[in-house]
Amino acid sequence: MESQTRSVSSGTPGDVSSISPQLNRLIRQRSRDLRLRKFDQQSAVKIVNHLIESLLEYLKNNEDHPFFRDVSVLTSGSYYEMVKINKPNEFDIMLKLKVPRLELSELEEYQGLFYKVKLVKATRKEIKHFLLEDERTISATKIKEEMHRLVRKFINNHFKGKGWVINRKLVNSPAVTLEYNNKEKEDDVMSVDIVPTLEVPQGWPQAARAGPNIDNWLGKKCRRQFVSKAVYFVPKRPKGRNLKDDAKESWRISFSHIEKEMMQYHGNKKTCCETPSNKCCRKRCLQLLKCLIEGLKQRYPKELEPLCSYHGKTAFFHVLSDRVQDSLWSPGQMSVSFMKLFGYFERRALDGSLLHFFVRQHNLFSPPAFPKRALAFLTNALKEQRELEFPVLKVPSPSAALVPDTDALIHPNPINGTDSIVASEHSFRHVYAWLVVVIVCVGIGCVFV
Ligand SMILES: [Zn+2]
Repeated sequence: MESQTRSVSSGTPGDVSSISPQLNRLIRQRSRDLRLRKFDQQSAVKIVNHLIESLLEYLKNNEDHPFFRDVSVLTSGSYYEMVKINKPNEFDIMLKLKVPRLELSELEEYQGLFYKVKLVKATRKEIKHFLLEDERTISATKIKEEMHRLVRKFINNHFKGKGWVINRKLVNSPAVTLEYNNKEKEDDVMSVDIVPTLEVPQGWPQAARAGPNIDNWLGKKCRRQFVSKAVYFVPKRPKGRNLKDDAKESWRISFSHIEKEMMQYHGNKKTCCETPSNKCCRKRCLQLLKCLIEGLKQRYPKELEPLCSYHGKTAFFHVLSDRVQDSLWSPGQMSVSFMKLFGYFERRALDGSLLHFFVRQHNLFSPPAFPKRALAFLTNALKEQRELEFPVLKVPSPSAALVPDTDALIHPNPINGTDSIVASEHSFRHVYAWLVVVIVCVGIGCVFV
C-alpha cells in the first residue's frame, strides 16, 4: 500500500503529522458516541429473531413452493460484525437454498464479480421451476420474485398489523426488504434484508482463487482456511443500462461470511481485543469511516448514489492487510489510525482505483458501477472534509446521522453548514457580552442607590 512508501506532506491525504487538538478531540468524541446502546441491540435482535424464526417455519411448511422448504440461515451483515453505525437498525439475513452441484461461468466484462450459475446436469428436483429455457441456468430473477412473493404472503398471513411492511422491489437489489416501525417510538425504524443465497462448495472461482492478501496480517494458514470454505452467490445484476440477457440473470459472488470472520478475528496476534488491556481501535476506525460515508450520502444523495459502506469496508481491509501490527491500532492511536484509513480511502478515490478485496481484478471505483462524475464529486467532498476537519462528523447527537439533514439538502455545501455553526456561536457570544454589561450596570446602580 502506498501510505508507507509515499512521503506525506502537510495537507495531503493520509498526513498524520498535523492532527490538531480539535480534530483529535472530535475523532475521539465521535468514536465514543458510536458505541451501541446495549438495550437497543437486545430489543432489536429479539424482534428480528422472532420474525426470522417464524419465516423459516412458514417456508418449511409452505404448500406453494417445496424448493423454498429447505432453507437455512447464513447470517451476515454489519450488525453481527458489531460495527453498526449509531443504532442497530439494519439486518442482513442470507437464506441459503439447497441446490445440486453447480457450474460457474464468469461474465467477462465484470472482472470476476458476476456469474452465470448453472446446474451441472439437468434435474427433476424442485429447482426445475427456477431455470431458464436451457433447463440448466438458474434464473436470478425467478428466485428473487418467488422469494418476494413468499415473504409477502408470510407477512400478510402472520404479521399483518404488527409493524412490519414490505418494501417495493428494486431491480438492482438482491434482497426482499422488510421495514419495522415501532408504534410507541415513531423514529424507531428497523429494516431487514432477506437475501436468497446459493452455496457453491466446490472451491473459489478462478478470479478469487489466490485468496485475500492477508499473509502478513492474519497469516498464510488463515488464508488457506478461507479459500477452502464455500463461496456464496446472491441474485444481483450489474449496474448499467442495456444489459445482455446473461447479465440480467446473473449472480454476484459474496464473501460476507469471510468478511464477518475477518472482523471478528482481526488481530495480528490472536489475543487482540480478548481482554481490556489488549483492546484495539480497528473496528472504531471502520465505524467512523462508515459514519462519514453515511453522512456524505445524506448530504448528497443524488451525487453520491453509487457510494456505499462496502467501499469503506474494502478500504478498511486493504489498510488492515498492510498496517498489520496490533500496537499501531492501540486505542491511543485512534486519531492517527483513522487519518491513515481516511487517507487511503481518499487516495483510492483520487486514483479512481479501489480493488475488490477478494477479486483483485475488479475495481469498485470503475464505471458504470461508479461513474466518473460521481467519483470526481466524491474526491472533492473527501478533500473538503479533510481540510475543514470533518464537519460531517460534527453531528449533535448519536442518532442525528440517521435523520436526513434537511438543511444540508437545501444548501448542499459543507462550508455553509460550518458557517452557520460559527455564526450561531458568534451570536451567543454577543448575548453573553450584553448580559455581563447589564449585570455590571445594575451592580453599579445598586452601589450608588
Ligand atoms: Zn483488536
